[in-house]
Amino acid sequence: MKNKIVIMLAILLVVSGLTACKTDKQPGPLKLVATTTMLADLAENMGKGRLEVTGLMGPGVDPHLYKAGAGDVDLLQHADIVLINGLDLEGKMGDVLESLKKNGRKVISLEDGLDSSRLLRDEENRDIFDPHVWFDVSLWQDAARYVCGRLCELDKDGENIYREQLDLYITELEELDDYIKIRVAELPEDMRVLVTAHDAFQYFGHAYGFEVKGLQGISTTTEAGTGDMIELADFIAERRIQAIFIETSIPPRNVEALQAAVNSRGFDVKIGGELYSDSLGDAQSGHDSYIATFRANIDTIVESLKSEG
Ligand SMILES: [Zn+2]
Repeated sequence: MKNKIVIMLAILLVVSGLTACKTDKQPGPLKLVATTTMLADLAENMGKGRLEVTGLMGPGVDPHLYKAGAGDVDLLQHADIVLINGLDLEGKMGDVLESLKKNGRKVISLEDGLDSSRLLRDEENRDIFDPHVWFDVSLWQDAARYVCGRLCELDKDGENIYREQLDLYITELEELDDYIKIRVAELPEDMRVLVTAHDAFQYFGHAYGFEVKGLQGISTTTEAGTGDMIELADFIAERRIQAIFIETSIPPRNVEALQAAVNSRGFDVKIGGELYSDSLGDAQSGHDSYIATFRANIDTIVESLKSEG
């Protein structure tokens, strides 16, 4: 019995000694580089006090067209963890991101973590997934859970912090989801039609019951054709849709041309304001978080569509 106690004490001493060694080391925060503003915001929410987060793309930047510069490549190569959307959202960065994976960098991609049965496909090409997953808050909760799980694997010492912050963030996202549903309920069902510059809002439409039309497809790399413009102008005039929307990350000229085309059909459609599609707002706008951006979007959509011309 006495021997057992001595052995146990010895084990305790060794274990506490090991723990002391570990805490003495005190490494700096892990460096996480996220591609889009939405992902940088997600990582900041999950990794407060644990991660040093840098976003590559600033507010108002279109991720479909973004090319990594030399400075970006350097940042990515020196990151401990890289967080990307995948699903070809960062289409022009494909080679850079691929080479990071090949070189054994720790890359977290939402593409690997989201249940593919919950993903929507491009209406024009069913082989392509729609990358705009942040527009369904319940899917963004899945994204947060996945990112948290991966962070816990890659940084085991931070697990408690990540899990605690995930719980808090999921609650905030649930509140956001409730807010969106309450606001949408203010619109009669036949007015729930969203026309925007490019097809970023299919997940939004699917989650919150909107018919959604984009002038350009799910990527801004292809220009809208004249046929698309005519078809959409006819649709808006026939359905007497009150407002169409520009997006902060896309020049407004196409939506303005669409407005002119609708007006020439004898129906005055207004531009209902700017929506944040593939980027969050900047600090000056006050909409520089995912939650603030989504609230601003739903307020703009509901106010513009419900007011008569
Ligand atoms: Zn997009």
